[in-house]
Amino acid sequence: MTEFQRVILIHYHEIGLKGKNRGRFEQRLLLNCKDLLRAFPVIDIHRISGRLVVFLKEGTSLTSACACEEMVARIPGVARASCGFKCPRTIDAIYEAAVAALGEAGPFETFKVQARRNHTDFPITSMDMNRLVGSVLCEAFPDACVRMKGCDVQVDVEVIQNAAFVYAKSIRGIGGLPVGVSGKLACLLSSGIDSPVATWRMARRGAVCIGVHFSGAPVTADTSSYLVDDIAQVLAQTGCIARVYRCAMGEYQRDISVEAPPALRVILYRRLMFKAAERIAALEGAKGLVTGESLGQVASQTLENIAATDDAVSMPILRPLIGTDKQDIIADAQQVGTFEISSQDAPDCCTLFMPRRPETHARLDAVRAAEAAYPVDAWADALAETAQVTDYRCSAYRPARKTETHPAS
Ligand code: ATP
Ligand code: MG
Repeated sequence: MTEFQRVILIHYHEIGLKGKNRGRFEQRLLLNCKDLLRAFPVIDIHRISGRLVVFLKEGTSLTSACACEEMVARIPGVARASCGFKCPRTIDAIYEAAVAALGEAGPFETFKVQARRNHTDFPITSMDMNRLVGSVLCEAFPDACVRMKGCDVQVDVEVIQNAAFVYAKSIRGIGGLPVGVSGKLACLLSSGIDSPVATWRMARRGAVCIGVHFSGAPVTADTSSYLVDDIAQVLAQTGCIARVYRCAMGEYQRDISVEAPPALRVILYRRLMFKAAERIAALEGAKGLVTGESLGQVASQTLENIAATDDAVSMPILRPLIGTDKQDIIADAQQVGTFEISSQDAPDCCTLFMPRRPETHARLDAVRAAEAAYPVDAWADALAETAQVTDYRCSAYRPARKTETHPAS
């Protein structure tokens, strides 16, 4: 039997809709895939009419092709990933590749063939190819039968200018847009369950994400910072985070806790976090802030408190989880791979100097008056300036200015 070259086809519906921007989006997805698949036996990745094709090295096993396919499916912008073969543009080669592809598709009882020609100079029409390849497959798999609607496996044949691609094993991708086509955002990243998911969702909408974390250091241990690093390493596997700023907020919280009305402390801490994050965003050229808040989930996440924290900054604050239930957020966290890390307990600034009864319906004038007792703008500047920066691999990231960096641990 001929050994055909293994390929992964990358489908990207949403990018296809983007008219004029399409070329830029395809190019970004291609560069992201090249970078993120560097640990796999990839020779090259090319664009062919409405798809990307990942060419795998000769002799790549089915197992490692499938591992590569699974990785591809996790990359933002990928609607579907298919594992198959490249073969010569002859009907006999197509037959042979189709038998091989269907043989690797896992258990099935019904199938159909979906053929396309991008060049009408191929002498056999798509309809005829469907019929011809279908009957060869029926002979090769006598227990299987053809079903047009609701079949177990679809065998795709795509004939292009000088080759054909044949695949039967497809998995759904996470969809969205390639990281790097929607600008940059600063994401308030705790070590909890929600904010990593919020960050991931914005990366899936094409944003380059910068994390900003506030620890209770030096008053508490900075365990939460290490968990945030673990979370960032997971997000970085699919290019969903570019760098993380870690700010030590404990001393400022202690100052606030000494005199501010206890019920307003949490809002004052949060306003300080937002202000510092806004400064970091400005340094990075990021155009908005992101949080993992979900309406009503905890005391600080009421509409009044959201308004009272938003008032501290002028940048737009995006809350991708605002209408999402915890169970759905947890399901996303499990899919992304951050859930287990986030389930570990770590003291951070949220657990420090907490009042017994935090305000749930903060009045803006009372909040502003309480805050006026502190040099919060100078504190926010200091938090941004003394933040520790860690870089993660994200090929779409462009720095806005030179900063001192520490390599990821
Ligand atoms: P999470 O699971 O993301 O921590 P949460 O349900 O625990 O969210 P809060 O602790 O009230 O809710 O935080 C709301 C949002 O504020 C978080 O999603 C995050 O965006 C931001 N935030 C909270 N704590 C921190 C922190 N220590 N550093 C950076 N951002 C934080
Ligand atoms: Mg939290």
